[in-house]
Amino acid sequence: MIKQKIYETIVKNLPIGFTTVDEEGITIDFNEAAEVITGFKKEEVIGKSHVSIFHQKTGVEGCPLFRHALISKEPVTAKEKKFVKKSGEVITLLVSVAPLYDSEGKFIGGVEIFRDITDIKRIERERKNILAMFAHDIKNSITTSLGFTSRILSGKSPDLKEDLKIIIDELKTVEHLISEFLEFSKLESKETIPNLEEIDLYQMILKEVDSIAIEAGKKNINISFVTDEHPPVFIKADETMIKRVLINLLDNAVKYNIIGGKITVRLIRTDQEVLVQIEDTGIGIPEDKQHMIFDAFYRATHTHKGSGLGLSIAKQIIELHGGRIWAESVYKKGSTFSFTLPINSKKEI
Ligand code: ADP
Repeated sequence: MIKQKIYETIVKNLPIGFTTVDEEGITIDFNEAAEVITGFKKEEVIGKSHVSIFHQKTGVEGCPLFRHALISKEPVTAKEKKFVKKSGEVITLLVSVAPLYDSEGKFIGGVEIFRDITDIKRIERERKNILAMFAHDIKNSITTSLGFTSRILSGKSPDLKEDLKIIIDELKTVEHLISEFLEFSKLESKETIPNLEEIDLYQMILKEVDSIAIEAGKKNINISFVTDEHPPVFIKADETMIKRVLINLLDNAVKYNIIGGKITVRLIRTDQEVLVQIEDTGIGIPEDKQHMIFDAFYRATHTHKGSGLGLSIAKQIIELHGGRIWAESVYKKGSTFSFTLPINSKKEI
């Protein structure tokens, strides 16, 4: 009895996901950390088949607990596994499984422990991205500037003004990359504190849509703001930061759009929050790259200039306000970027 109590206390307080199944794969135990990681409540999974709840799409093949602990009866440690949460969000788990035997050596089921390593994976990817960015984009600009400077110094420049203009453009690119990097670092280390004030999101969107219309016009892109709301749509937020998000998303919608494309901006208000959507008919994002586009320095395409930081900055800003940001995209058809913001940001900042 005491042993049972100790077992329950340990399982409940374990800071990692823990679940056990019987020899048929029916869930017997599911701790609190497992609830937080997966989004499923204990009551929803106990007594049900582990595979039918967690691996609906892949079946037994995609289930380490079933394949290793129940079928081959071999323990597996630290296996990385993509997992779809109850909310639909895809995360990466680090999973270990083992078969279970009772004191007489009879096989009685399997145990799985798991950790959410999505953030660790993202940081790993960002570290690689940052090296690629410095090694590639910044080095390219510096090499070009050095080449043109040497040509000017040797007196062989056919058009001095033109060469200097190229150098300035390259240096501007480097300056832009570095200032975006600094802005991102400040946001990431929570050094930037939003200055919350009442802002009219309706007017702000209208103004930014108007400003981008000139750039959009150059590519013959039609941009429209569609909403059933009436001004003002007040929210409590940092004006400069939200403007930055809108400009980033609108810039991208133009940059990654096709000639003669369309951009539709929507604003929807519910009781607690506002939803802003920016839909384009552009190049879209391949499905296997979609989960990385909010990573710092990640660029799904190198056909246009950019730092790969705009979306990660936007994500930091929106989450700092207690909102969510996500993208839906069909490759070669277009993308929709959406974000929500609480009407009254009560988030402790
Ligand atoms: P960048 O400076 O490269 O535009 P972002 O962080 O703004 O950086 O975007 C990251 C990547 O996501 C881009 O390089 C691009 O590949 C992809 N992306 C962003 N917005 C769109 C869009 N509207 N359509 C297609 N791809 C997009």
